[in-house]
Amino acid sequence: MIEIIVIIISSVAILVLLYILISNKRKPLKLFHIIQEDRNLLHQYVTFYNQLDKQKQREFEDRIAHFLSTVTITGINTEVERLDQLLIAASAIIPIFNFHNWQYMNLNEVLLYPATFDEMFNQEGDERTRAGVVGDGPYQNIMILSKYDVRHGFINSESKHNTGIHEFVHLVDKTDGAIDGIPEKLIGKQYVLPWLNLMQQSIQHIREERSDISPYGATNQAEFFAVVSEYFFEQPDLLLENHPELFELLTRIFNPHVMK
Ligand SMILES: [Zn+2]
Repeated sequence: MIEIIVIIISSVAILVLLYILISNKRKPLKLFHIIQEDRNLLHQYVTFYNQLDKQKQREFEDRIAHFLSTVTITGINTEVERLDQLLIAASAIIPIFNFHNWQYMNLNEVLLYPATFDEMFNQEGDERTRAGVVGDGPYQNIMILSKYDVRHGFINSESKHNTGIHEFVHLVDKTDGAIDGIPEKLIGKQYVLPWLNLMQQSIQHIREERSDISPYGATNQAEFFAVVSEYFFEQPDLLLENHPELFELLTRIFNPHVMK
């Protein structure tokens, strides 16, 4: 009798375990296909896309479609429009466009809030200083973005700011396990120390108000890397002119095949 009870309990436990495993499996998303209207929107808003040749533009579109077929975008008190999908995917692809076969393994879902939010993710109140965040702990594999700020980053192409790119650079930084401003898997070992020194020196210049890099970059090394990457992708010519050493090391990180 006891044996039968043990068998029944074991069977139930196995079934429960199987159910948990199956229900936790990522649900397949609907395949996203790029249509002509999407190309028009990309031409209208994404400078990076406009600067690619025709062949590279097709590649960019394919990678956007792949991103949107594998990552869910959920609106929280806001509608996710086609433009938002495209701009979030463009933010994801721009930093890693020169890495072939790159996948954001650490991202399942983007939550889109209408505008900025506070530390506790409240959408109201006076402490709403955040436009994006890469989830941690129970929010692992989730990113939160402000719809207003993502759009603004692309609409205002003259600025050095782009919230979407900023948050995806944090995710790139996180692939070695730590968001610390040192993308160890992308930067050659011999450049880690020069990169650290240059970050420290540049942060010091921001603190002494001797820099045109956003003061938010002086928060810590991780924020410096994300902020200066926004600058690199938004205003590359200006970064090259004002900060040639930063430009060179960022090129080594994001576009390694052009550097020898
Ligand atoms: Zn940040």
